[in-house]
Amino acid sequence: MLSFEELIEPIQQSLQVNDRTLLRNAYTFSQQAHAGQKRKSGEDYFVHCVEVARILVEIHMDPAAIAAALLHDVVEDTDITLQELEREFDAEVAQLVDGVTKLERVPLQTDNGTRGKASDREAEYLRKTLLAMDNDVRVILIKLADRLHNMRTLGHLSPESQRRIAHETMEVFAPLANRLGIWQMKWELQDLAFRYLNAEGYRRIASYIAERRADRDAYMSRLVDRIKKLLEQNNIPYADISGRSKHIYSIWRKMEYKKLSFDQIFDVRAIRIIVKDTAMCYQVLGIIHQAWRPIAGEFDDYIAAPKENFYQSLHTAVLLEDGKTLEVQIRTTEMHYNAEYGVAAHWRYKEKGSAGKARDIDFERRLQYLRELLDVGRSVDDASEFMDVMRSDVFRDRVYVFTPRGDIIDLPSGSTPIDFAYHIHTDVGNRCRGAKINGKLVKLDYTLQVGDRVEILTSKRGGPSRDWLNPHLGYVRTKRATAKIRQWFRKQDREKMVSLGREILDRELKRLGLETTKHDAVARLFDEDSTEEFIAKIGYGDIHPQHIATKLIEIEQQATKDEERSFLNSLPNEPSRPASSEGVRVQGTGGFLTNFARCCNPIQGDEIIGYITQGRGVTIHRMDCPNIHRFPRQRLISVDWGSDQEQRYPVPICITAYDREGLMRDIGIAVADEHINIRSVSVNTQNHIATFSVTLEVDSANQLSRVLAKIEQLPNIMEAHRVTT
Ligand code: MN
Repeated sequence: MLSFEELIEPIQQSLQVNDRTLLRNAYTFSQQAHAGQKRKSGEDYFVHCVEVARILVEIHMDPAAIAAALLHDVVEDTDITLQELEREFDAEVAQLVDGVTKLERVPLQTDNGTRGKASDREAEYLRKTLLAMDNDVRVILIKLADRLHNMRTLGHLSPESQRRIAHETMEVFAPLANRLGIWQMKWELQDLAFRYLNAEGYRRIASYIAERRADRDAYMSRLVDRIKKLLEQNNIPYADISGRSKHIYSIWRKMEYKKLSFDQIFDVRAIRIIVKDTAMCYQVLGIIHQAWRPIAGEFDDYIAAPKENFYQSLHTAVLLEDGKTLEVQIRTTEMHYNAEYGVAAHWRYKEKGSAGKARDIDFERRLQYLRELLDVGRSVDDASEFMDVMRSDVFRDRVYVFTPRGDIIDLPSGSTPIDFAYHIHTDVGNRCRGAKINGKLVKLDYTLQVGDRVEILTSKRGGPSRDWLNPHLGYVRTKRATAKIRQWFRKQDREKMVSLGREILDRELKRLGLETTKHDAVARLFDEDSTEEFIAKIGYGDIHPQHIATKLIEIEQQATKDEERSFLNSLPNEPSRPASSEGVRVQGTGGFLTNFARCCNPIQGDEIIGYITQGRGVTIHRMDCPNIHRFPRQRLISVDWGSDQEQRYPVPICITAYDREGLMRDIGIAVADEHINIRSVSVNTQNHIATFSVTLEVDSANQLSRVLAKIEQLPNIMEAHRVTT
């Protein structure tokens, strides 16, 4: 058993006199309290307390946590009460012990638990553990150290207990260590648990490693020597260069899930270089890339852009002379501690001043980040659902961004600055006029990235823009923001909404070239009895103009030959006007050149008839075109619309704008984004007003409406609408 001096040996230089006194008292107190108690192995129970404390000493935890580790089982397993502890030590130590004791009492096992329920209990445990973190994360670090030592000494228990405890460790404690960023503990917990859960797999991989170890070690030490020389030649002092050992469980997982052989995994050489400061990291990177050929696509700069879990390091891979891959990690000592010890690294640094402050902020961020994870769990009532949330990588569908003050905001990924603004406060959302990301102005449909610092620019008054509700424009992603925007519009005066709705509907009909369509008719398509109610709904934003275009299409597709159909046929629901014979089939005279009569502008769905002209092929007229009666009957032929569903139709549109540079290019991009071709363009500029006549090839009214809305979003554009004669 470690003596007191041996226990504190790794940290004794940093201990103050009172720290040392505290630790010595805790050591003696615990030893006396547990006197006579034995573990299953026959050892004194106190050995366990010392070993748990030792684990925390090795990760340089603070004296209060180490004292609490020495005392962690005193309240649970002896007659000592919490009050006595508080009297003997102080409130801080007593609270830590209390926290650990409470965790002990969370029932992980029930007597009659069925198999299926085991994961529920584990989930519940994990959840309670994370809740405890709200008070003091050190409680969990002590608990993890406790579990780690129990796992190291698991051999003395019955096989049944071994499996049960190993299972819990794999499902609860290793993920917990992972969440806290303490890789060292995570790996050891996993390897120990794996040994009991899959003894055969463990033995196999361990023996593979043992077989190859001598060769590999010799190879790696030659490689390390070479790199050391390279750094020395370049006058770069290094803290450490070492081959990274692979962990048994992680090798096994890669073999299982990536279907790789042991050699494929084990043959990858991996080295870690630890240097003094960030600048040196990049210098070393340059040296390595000069010495060996870097493998394209393998370089990652997690220093400039840390991972979500605050991990920092440079990663690269180069090709060695023997054709094998060498993975290289380069980082500073501090980055290394952060990577290995996660939140626990916080206690290693004691400096005051700006460096210390920056670290404190960093630590707070880490804790905040863990609390955010916890919040996800809180909103989920069912424990197993919570576990799913924990297990599925939360970060894949969440984006974590910062307020200017450094608070973390958690949003669904794909969220925009407007979502962010509404998350902060409804009022901020309503008055949002712009946003800066990391100090730079961005458009409001910008997709937030993990780690962005978001600053919302607001106006004094005014409300949200109705465009924010248009799903095609991508301004808003969250349901919450959408609901808030709708709410705002609903609050506005109804009369105002009706007139606004009318304006919107008119504009949309004009866009679609349906100006003559009656509002009543459109309202009927929406099963609205009251046209005014319908128009008010448009004003409120409940019915978006986009829905109108979509509806016309839907109805058109369902329509049969009844009255409704003839009504609809009078609407150019499909903005379709095939200009070539591809769009129209001419019965009996296939191969004729066809064109469309300018007098009646037939569109798909119209009843049509062909007129064989002299030298200009077949002209297509509407059946009800008055001109038909003037044609000789023998030159009229029956024609039919083509059946190809994927048809694209040329649609002339007109765009007016205050002229500016790049206008045509921007329109072109907006159109290309919709995968629409531009068939022709002409522009006419007068008094700084540019009028574009553009013919687009669209496949539906829906698509047309969408692209017109997008064009109208561009700066300087006054109007964009379909042209009808
Ligand atoms: Mn214990």
